[in-house]
Amino acid sequence: MTVSSLNVPEKQFIQPELTSRIVHYQLSPEELTEQTVHRQEGVISSTGALCINTGEFTGRCPLDKFMVKDTVTENTVHWNNFNRPIEEKYFHQLKKKLLNYLNNKQEIWVRDCYACAHPEYRINIRVINENPWGNLFVYNMFLRPDENELDNFEPEWTVIQAPNFKAEPEIDGTRQHNFAIISFTHKTILIGGTGYTGEIKKGIFTVLNYILPHDKDVLSMHCSANVGRRGDVAIFFGLSGTGKTTLSADSNRKLIGDDEHGWNNNSVFNFEGGCYAKCIDLSEDKEPEIYNAIREGALVENVTFLSGTDEIDFSSKKITENTRASYPLHYISNALEPGIADTPKNIFFLTCDAYGILPPISKLTPGQAMYQFISGYTAKVAGTETGITEPKATFSACFGAPFLPLHPGFYAKMLGKKMKEHNVNVWMVNTGWIGGGYGVGARIKLRYTRAMIAAALNGHLNNVEFEPHKVFGMLVPKTCSGIPDSLLNPRCTWTNKEAYDKQAKELACLFVNNFEKYTDCVNDEIFSATPLVD
Ligand code: ATP
Ligand code: MN
Repeated sequence: MTVSSLNVPEKQFIQPELTSRIVHYQLSPEELTEQTVHRQEGVISSTGALCINTGEFTGRCPLDKFMVKDTVTENTVHWNNFNRPIEEKYFHQLKKKLLNYLNNKQEIWVRDCYACAHPEYRINIRVINENPWGNLFVYNMFLRPDENELDNFEPEWTVIQAPNFKAEPEIDGTRQHNFAIISFTHKTILIGGTGYTGEIKKGIFTVLNYILPHDKDVLSMHCSANVGRRGDVAIFFGLSGTGKTTLSADSNRKLIGDDEHGWNNNSVFNFEGGCYAKCIDLSEDKEPEIYNAIREGALVENVTFLSGTDEIDFSSKKITENTRASYPLHYISNALEPGIADTPKNIFFLTCDAYGILPPISKLTPGQAMYQFISGYTAKVAGTETGITEPKATFSACFGAPFLPLHPGFYAKMLGKKMKEHNVNVWMVNTGWIGGGYGVGARIKLRYTRAMIAAALNGHLNNVEFEPHKVFGMLVPKTCSGIPDSLLNPRCTWTNKEAYDKQAKELACLFVNNFEKYTDCVNDEIFSATPLVD
């Protein structure tokens, strides 16, 4: 085994199963970028970012994500459509095949990194990639150990990722040739047949969503987080495309993280060391922080170029609508490092309501907050998951069902307790449509959404009048600085009020139907937040 590394002694890198000719260990972003270009797997954009194609898959494949069902998980994991069981024998079989596949390669890439900015919860991870850009993603997205930490690095979890390896479903127990398999017993994630890098980060996120709440009494959350000048923390829950990354990048507040956080008794902390931002229609004008992060070292996925140039065409959906860029946290000018701050003062539930029913901003009672958290509503027009290209109502418990191994009630209970203990304000923000649903109205302007969030954060909304929404009950402000009053009440923005009322009832029915599976495990306070369907 050859270890190619500038600064790490060979002795501390021991992984007997790896016998590829060259094992590139802990290469710099520059080296990984150069190798990717040299292998003709990527090109450099006008701003210096590395642009690659992830291949067949440009989004996550929830149906191909499995967890080994064994003595650890059997009675703890909430087995459902997202938590799909696989027998342990298939895990061993695929691990063997995957390693064999990688060992027959000329070269492979290995990186040691960790998750969780809070030292008490930190988990060390070793990732093995088939190609250099997969390894660059890992550099960008996970936390980066310093040289001292590397000297004594003991990996706890291992991720093995080979986009070009294909499983044989009939033999390997998978659904099709691509898979992501988590074994809690062997602390290993196997990813094959897909080059979509998001599988790597969401694989580890899934692991943390088990370990932290189950073993450490820490609430893990699919949310972004930032902190104001006075140390006031805000967290933003929301499903894919609702604005977690966009809205957490705020020039007036320090970014803690854009997607995955933990909340223990006295802090909120980031799990990650980078951001994974959507690039579709990205503009310097509307999202300067993210736009300017797309430079040397950033990894951009599935974009095309303005013809005859090396300038990224951010408007193009030619390959996918889910174009993405990963970059280390410090590429955002005001990132907080390490990513640990106080417990939150404000919680935002982001939803992208393509039906145009929910108010652009509203305040939730504790009961409503729990009802909305358990419901986890959005209506996507386009998403991160392969195959979704049309508007569709989605209910995803705790705003993150695909990544939550435990029963949603487990997380909901923890959040409910913390919300009360810390007396947190909870807001619901519709970053989706106003003036009508998809096709009639339009998506609310980003600057309005930012203004309303700022008004909530700076206390301005404490001093205005509210009125309850007639169907959903949340408190809608009558006025809010930075946005015309006429846009605050969604019904007023529709020309056809009857159409609004009808659509609102229909949406309420969807909420009620979805909530049926939880009615047994909620109290009256939560249940009384049910929208009215009469
Ligand atoms: P994921 O979990 O997939 O990372 P996310 O919640 O981080 O999703 P963003 O990457 O923030 O989602 O995506 C929000 C998208 O919506 C961005 O492309 C942003 O430019 C666009 N957008 C348009 N209008 C708004 C608005 N009013 N508020 C927030 N985002 C908006
Ligand atoms: Mn995001």
